Amino acid sequence: MSAAVTEAPTSSEKTGPREGAFGNAVALACRECGHRVDLGPFYACPECFGPLEIAYEFPTVTREEIEAGPRNIWRYKALLPVPTDIETSPNTEPGFTRLLDARNLATELGLAKLWVKDDSTNPTNSFKDRVVACALSAARELDAKVFACPSTGNLANAVAAAGARAGIKTVVFIPSNLEHPKQVNSAIFTESLVAVDGNYDDVNKLASEIAGEEEGWAFVNVNVRPYYAEGSKTLGYEIAEQLGWRLPDQIVIPVASGSQLTKVDKAFRELIELGLVEEKPYKIFGAQAEGCGPVATAFKAGTDAIRPVKPDTIAKSLAIGNPADGIYVLDIARRTGGAVEEVTDDEVRAGIVLLARTEGIFTETAGGTTLAVTKKLVENGQLDPELETVVINTGHGLKTLDAISGQVGAAATIAPTYDAFKATGIA
Ligand SMILES: *Cc1c(COP(=O)(O)O)cnc(C)c1O
Ligand SMILES: [Zn+2]
Repeated sequence: MSAAVTEAPTSSEKTGPREGAFGNAVALACRECGHRVDLGPFYACPECFGPLEIAYEFPTVTREEIEAGPRNIWRYKALLPVPTDIETSPNTEPGFTRLLDARNLATELGLAKLWVKDDSTNPTNSFKDRVVACALSAARELDAKVFACPSTGNLANAVAAAGARAGIKTVVFIPSNLEHPKQVNSAIFTESLVAVDGNYDDVNKLASEIAGEEEGWAFVNVNVRPYYAEGSKTLGYEIAEQLGWRLPDQIVIPVASGSQLTKVDKAFRELIELGLVEEKPYKIFGAQAEGCGPVATAFKAGTDAIRPVKPDTIAKSLAIGNPADGIYVLDIARRTGGAVEEVTDDEVRAGIVLLARTEGIFTETAGGTTLAVTKKLVENGQLDPELETVVINTGHGLKTLDAISGQVGAAATIAPTYDAFKATGIA
């Protein structure tokens, strides 16, 4: 990996990854102007500074081939920028998480059909294991010496764990006010957890600077971001496959940088293009917390101008005040007939409790946000209760215990006697 990997070289100087290092990916293409550059550790267009995205030449891919693959994200390796022998490499194996038929929650919300895609069961208990697995593959193919990230918490957990298993040095950067369990869940895997006095946007700026100064560092969501981002497509592929190779009518997705939401849309469009699902309209909804809702604010104002905010919410995993893909989230929500909605921290807490009490799933604040937004969208008529709906649960509640510790606890503390128990009125 070369130093100062901020933008791609204009001429096509080969950086020399091995043949087949990125599978069916053929180039990096600018999302804004379409300019193409060779695959490498680049993320900004040399022509217009727009974000680079992976471009493919897909072979024919059949449902049967995919179904014969492993029960993890590598069953979709033909659609990802990874080598064809990926499942045999020392890598984490996230994905193929359950798609739960959420009947109790559907009844509670007045929805005809509701599914919860439960990504809290990935190796480090969030959807970030998907993106990190793809970023790690790219980092190794590009001969990176250090695997690093700025993170709102879950990404640091996933990077630290995947790096440990792959035997590659990891350095993860987080805002110093992060939830204690998320700090421990990184520190257990790496010696180099760096807590930065600042918010995520400060941490991200620092990471970009380090990426430009230090040789051979792969920052998963900075200089190998195009590869990282593709990992989120597997959520879309799995949902379609688990529905019996169909797209849902409506889907609600949390928004931090906006990467996940834009890649689920990309996955759905690719499945249509490849003939793996039938073309049909679908609506994509984004979920944010009011304390960090720059995309929701812009959506409601009917503008493309996303005003960065200073995050102040318990949904720390979504607390990105200046979301890199916010503009694309707005575009997708508008194009598909969806929306971007926001909820208060109290609604987030209520969302966590609602999912737990109806479906037995303990989600973190990001999932509480998604649930609460889903409820709000039903109430304000933006979600059609007759259509099939999917919500994505992106993380586990054990990592954000503090958020609900005031909400739930022992119903009573009693002496060890039957009389004392009887006096509680529980029986
Ligand atoms: C990172 C994260 C998200 C959203 O990520 P994007 O930056 O929008 O791709 C959602 N939920 C959880 C739990 C996360 O950690
Ligand atoms: Zn460009």
